[in-house]
Amino acid sequence: MGIEEFVKDTRIAYFSMEIGIRPEMHTYSGGLGILAGDTLKSAADLRIPMIGVTLIHRMGYFRQELDPFGRQIEHPDSWDIEKYLKRINIKVSVEIEKKPVYITAWYYIIESTIGGRVPVILLDTDIPDNDPVDRTLTHYLYGGDLEYRLKQEIILGIGGVRVLDELGFEIRKYHMNEGHSSLLTLELLKKFKKPIEEVWSEELVWDVQKVRDLCVFTTHTPVEAGHDRFPYELVQRVLGEPVPMWLIKKLAGDGMLNMTLLGFNLSEYINGVSKKHEEVSERMFPGYEIHAITNGVHPYTWVSEPFKNLYNKHLPGWAMEPEIFVRAWKIPEEELWDAHMQAKKSLIDYVNRISGANFNYETFTIGFARRATPYKRADLLLSDPERLAIVGEGRVQIIYAGKAHPKDEGGKQLIQRIFQVKERIKDKVKIVYLPNYDMAMAMKLVAGVDIWLNNPLKPLEASGTSGMKATHNGVPNFSVLDGWWIEGWIEGYTGWSIGTLEETSDPKRDSEDLYFKLGNDILPMFYENRNIWIKVMKNAIAMNAYYFNTHRMIRFYVTEAYIR
Ligand SMILES: *Cc1c(COP(=O)(O)O)cnc(C)c1O
Repeated sequence: MGIEEFVKDTRIAYFSMEIGIRPEMHTYSGGLGILAGDTLKSAADLRIPMIGVTLIHRMGYFRQELDPFGRQIEHPDSWDIEKYLKRINIKVSVEIEKKPVYITAWYYIIESTIGGRVPVILLDTDIPDNDPVDRTLTHYLYGGDLEYRLKQEIILGIGGVRVLDELGFEIRKYHMNEGHSSLLTLELLKKFKKPIEEVWSEELVWDVQKVRDLCVFTTHTPVEAGHDRFPYELVQRVLGEPVPMWLIKKLAGDGMLNMTLLGFNLSEYINGVSKKHEEVSERMFPGYEIHAITNGVHPYTWVSEPFKNLYNKHLPGWAMEPEIFVRAWKIPEEELWDAHMQAKKSLIDYVNRISGANFNYETFTIGFARRATPYKRADLLLSDPERLAIVGEGRVQIIYAGKAHPKDEGGKQLIQRIFQVKERIKDKVKIVYLPNYDMAMAMKLVAGVDIWLNNPLKPLEASGTSGMKATHNGVPNFSVLDGWWIEGWIEGYTGWSIGTLEETSDPKRDSEDLYFKLGNDILPMFYENRNIWIKVMKNAIAMNAYYFNTHRMIRFYVTEAYIR
């Protein structure tokens, strides 16, 4: 049996430019992709009939090397496709620059530990039917220029629908995970076009309502760069007119083809990824009804080995029913601490092995890992190095990681600045910056640090998910009040805030608050009040992890978006 066995059930098709399933498959770059993978894993656990659609990304996003000055060097990041994927004997074509580009496909099966299975289809143009340039269209995730991006989005949106049709899938909803796949709506408009004799109007042949009923759209960021826009000259040349240009402009905007607007206008249900993000998005896109479904993470993927053992013993059933985390207070304190120290030791050993940084097991360890880009402010903690040296001398060690997009100069400079401060205060506070942040490293970090730090400029963090991974391992968050943390935060109980609930950031105040709480609340509790600290760890599990998981999230999608 191959992919055919999945054809018999009507499915929800989940389209995403990136899907992070396992570390060995380089089909993701960051949060968006990991969320997509976690979503499909929960669907497999709960036996929700879904199917993922993405591109194969043979060369990955990129592998990050850092030189001694913190300068980023980017390498292609190929992976062993044949080892993880199975070929599908299929060939469809899409029209790009007025000539056909052929697409074949591969599949991967996500298997739940209890037997549920969800297939993922990965589209591939690297076949002899295509000319050498078109063969590279499914090589690099977020690589190349605007034209390359548009071509990839034609393959994902239009090619994806054609592959599903060709295989005989019956799709009950098309879920666009961000705007990269919005062109699928044009293919659906074509597919459901009514005969002119039936409606007697050029306009009414396009059954917009029918397509809207089939589509769901999730927007993931208020940051402008996250919303693709293509100039119409480029669109005309590369895409042509799969439906007439007047209709495209009506649905996707007059000035440029805006992929978010296109998705919005053809979706019956639109949502942001936290309650705050819903509010911010409604202001960004006046006139649209936007809902909120707060993100989560897949419990079994993000719980470390020592915590799996601990939960199996005290909270059996947790992996399929994370609501059980609500009884985390049943776990004896020594056992919780012991599991944390196992995870911490394996992280510290790993850090020392790859960096020679000579970190130790007992020192309070702060983790900060995410995309290196200015609004995430990786250097806020270093804004006053002398103060950090005073507050943290001998009591704090810090682990950083994160890639900067190859075109993000500001992000690259941020990494170099961290390297400079690291040298400057190395006798007082040890800092490492680990190269090539990926899923495997994230698993070690979120479980092994003592606190997870997040301090982006508000209101730009739509949700954030790495902090949720930390809570699944009893690691509390120390974060600005944005995204999911507004919903998860109870001061001093589940973790700590930085700054106020106001919607915009005050950088001076944020750094003041950061140093003050670290020195006066957090470090004293960790070192002098370990019993209270362990209670905060329990709360991170009982009050955060029980809710911020993809099991709860996907159930919300089913009842609010998929079956309405
Ligand atoms: C979880 C994860 C992210 C997303 O983390 P945020 O907190 O949402 O920024 C990015 N990269 C990797 C490798 C991850 O595992």
